[in-house]
Amino acid sequence: MDARYLLARLNSIEHHYEKQIQSTGEKLTPMMVAAALSGLEKSAYLLARYVWCQDETVYSELLSEVEQMVQGLALSEEWCGFAAEEKIQALSALALRYFQHRSLCKACSGTGIVKITSCPQCFGSGKQRLTHSVLANAVGVHRSNWLRSWNEKFNLVLAVLSEWEEEACGHIQKQLCA
Ligand SMILES: [Zn+2]
Repeated sequence: MDARYLLARLNSIEHHYEKQIQSTGEKLTPMMVAAALSGLEKSAYLLARYVWCQDETVYSELLSEVEQMVQGLALSEEWCGFAAEEKIQALSALALRYFQHRSLCKACSGTGIVKITSCPQCFGSGKQRLTHSVLANAVGVHRSNWLRSWNEKFNLVLAVLSEWEEEACGHIQKQLCA
């Protein structure tokens, strides 16, 4: 689902949509997103503003939402040795930045499919993955440590962020059908 497409339809500016995709200058405004997402849960709303309009003003509020979510995961998933506040903070910030900057997988052009099967590069997600070394470096641990105790948790956090984004997309779709 493309958020820009949904918002364009909601705002009845379909004819500008192609132009929006082609030019990098035109962006969604936080006001457009705010209007389309009123009534949505705070976490999903803040994420949509941050990811769809690169609105840095919501970053710290959103980050604390993500940290609360990660803390909840650490408890429910029993992440031994991961209760330290600095680890929760590092994982939250990395996941959030990664989520915002993830770009389309070059191998499948974001479709997630190559020759009718799931793309081997991105495992069907359609998004380009950073290497484990880069991610390990970002939180200041060795690659083997990243693989042993960070990578799985990182993917879980990303999955929750994807759910939040889907909630935001679903909210707009509901309004389109109303
Ligand atoms: Zn791919």
